[in-house]
Amino acid sequence: MTTSVQLTGRFQVDERGYYGRFGGAYIPELLYPNIAELTAHYLHYIQSKDFQEEFHQLLRDYVGRPTPLYFAARLSAKYNTQIYFKREDLCHTGAHKINNTIGQILLAKRLGKRKIVAETGAGQHGVATATVCALMGMECIVYMGEVDMQRQAPNVARMRMLGAEVRPATSGSRTLKDATNEAMRHWINNPTDTHYIIGSVVGPHPYPDMVARFQSVISQEIRQQLAEKTGSELPTYVLACVGGGSNAAGAFYHFLEEPSVQLIALEAAGKGIHSGHSAATTALGRPGILHGSKSLVIQTPDGQVVEPYSISAGLDYPGIGPLHAYLFESGRAKFVPITDEEAMEAGLLCSQLEGIIPAIETAHALAYLEKLKAQPDEVVVVCLSGRGDKDLQTYINWFAERLK
Ligand SMILES: *Cc1c(COP(=O)(O)O)cnc(C)c1O
Repeated sequence: MTTSVQLTGRFQVDERGYYGRFGGAYIPELLYPNIAELTAHYLHYIQSKDFQEEFHQLLRDYVGRPTPLYFAARLSAKYNTQIYFKREDLCHTGAHKINNTIGQILLAKRLGKRKIVAETGAGQHGVATATVCALMGMECIVYMGEVDMQRQAPNVARMRMLGAEVRPATSGSRTLKDATNEAMRHWINNPTDTHYIIGSVVGPHPYPDMVARFQSVISQEIRQQLAEKTGSELPTYVLACVGGGSNAAGAFYHFLEEPSVQLIALEAAGKGIHSGHSAATTALGRPGILHGSKSLVIQTPDGQVVEPYSISAGLDYPGIGPLHAYLFESGRAKFVPITDEEAMEAGLLCSQLEGIIPAIETAHALAYLEKLKAQPDEVVVVCLSGRGDKDLQTYINWFAERLK
């Protein structure tokens, strides 16, 4: 198996790093050498035979791939259609994020780097990064907003247990965007020995393309597994939640050029699109620059990034990757907002009908099954991006009365 399959059409990033009018590398001049080095070498390395062998060996033996494609019989019966879960929740560390961090640490090694820097919001990407650094014996520094460190104390503990140094970002709102600024500053000051691992299909080119390629193993496996189970590689629908968009990019990738497959991205509407407490980027965003690329961004009329809100920490992001902005604008994928309440109900339903407690991020994708109204003979694949252990307290608080 190889993840180096080339998209040939308009969904492949162009040489300048654009998908349509979105993408590029809008970075401070001091970062040019780092980004130029990465851009010059990433394809060569990740397409090489020895990289692919090591990547797939680790995905198999360490991450636990291929993850199962599971026929969700009771949910299928409830909605009178054919529903399959792609079980990324069964990956080591409990979500898809490790597919990307494994790929990037192997690239870092080949670039001769000995140290890793990353930023993290809720801590999930920080944990996935600290994990692969322990695996490879690399020094790991993770910047995290001071406020987030308090809100997500268990993930801070996990990162420290894994040997990472967690540094608080103490400027601004002391959340993800401040941690990102600190991580970038760190990389500028340590360009020769350090690689910066970004956690989603965001950031300056070539990160969105690189991360999408690493995550594309998800849809590559779906095609093979669906063929075995249904006789066709192509489902009717693929559903995935979108924060920055990496699990969705991975689940969509090998279907982008199959027009019969309907791609549906579920974004976090929080307390409602117009409540002022939302992270529904395509519904609310306008073109702007965020984290080094041009995409859709939730912003004030004068261009200040708005602090987003979602009950799920992983979807609490004011932008989306440039590939997704292009999928939205071109109509190739449909983007639908899901509220906190809809997601929480779907998380409970999945737990009780399938015996799988999903991450609240993932529950946003599951919530769309209710609205989809798929036909009995149609095939719906849901990317089950992560498990819900980390969210148990949030579920318990939300359903306090009903779960007595
Ligand atoms: C981080 C996370 C997400 C959101 O990130 P994407 O890059 O949009 O995939 C979704 N689900 C889970 C379980 C996560 O941990």
